[in-house]
Amino acid sequence: MIPVLTYHALNIRGNDYANNDHVAFASDLELINKLGWRIQPLHHIVDCLFYKGGSLPDKTIALTFDDATDFDFDDLPHPTAGMQRSMLNIMRDFAARHPEAQPGLHATSFVIASPEARAAMDRACIIDRNWMNDSWWPEAVASGLMGIANHSWDHNHECMERVAQRNQEKGNFFCIDTDADADAQIREAAQFITRRAPNPSVALFGYPYGHVNEFLSKDYLPRQGASSAPFVKAAFGTDAGMMTHASDRWNLPRYVCGWHWKSTDELTAILSSVS
Ligand SMILES: [Zn+2]
Repeated sequence: MIPVLTYHALNIRGNDYANNDHVAFASDLELINKLGWRIQPLHHIVDCLFYKGGSLPDKTIALTFDDATDFDFDDLPHPTAGMQRSMLNIMRDFAARHPEAQPGLHATSFVIASPEARAAMDRACIIDRNWMNDSWWPEAVASGLMGIANHSWDHNHECMERVAQRNQEKGNFFCIDTDADADAQIREAAQFITRRAPNPSVALFGYPYGHVNEFLSKDYLPRQGASSAPFVKAAFGTDAGMMTHASDRWNLPRYVCGWHWKSTDELTAILSSVS
């Protein structure tokens, strides 16, 4: 029973746990450690559960970030909430405080591959400061603390003038339901990320919006996963639940901060439901 926790570093509406995922993440690392959970890289967990076998520590847990921005990697000044410690530096701070505590300390950042999509989102969804770069991906991988995973080519996001989707239907991922559209969103993204920052996490896919459809989860992704060198090995939605070897690897559950839990007590309740 493995919980996978998800944070959005862009979720900054103040500086309290409930309205700032950086604050929540720093606090949760301490809680996870205090409760005896063992952080492991998500790609390693996926390999152990579904591919190569191998044993995992009791009370294994994984950490993920969605919709990667530079807030994952760089300390940045938020216009209203002030300076924010990056998610990576929060992990480094934790490791400095507890040097031996979590040898598997690692988080998986699900990134949007297309440079045009990131530029459009930076203009439309952030504050047009050029805070959705890919220049930090290789350094994040080299830190040993972060993996760069696949959150699609362009998120099929409505801020884009043109998306890869064949009918220009935007704002959801349910309409990615042909081989051509799935290749454009998932295969092309995996190839781009691999060129920019080769790392084992690229074989993990996070469904944009948490939208999981039958075509992707029952047909397209299983077909790709069955090949000898799959570019995708597992896919994550946003249904609450624990991951086990019996889970559907093409629709794995995650707990999302700010949605499935909003406080230390609520996360404690989730974690104690299995420990
Ligand atoms: Zn997303």
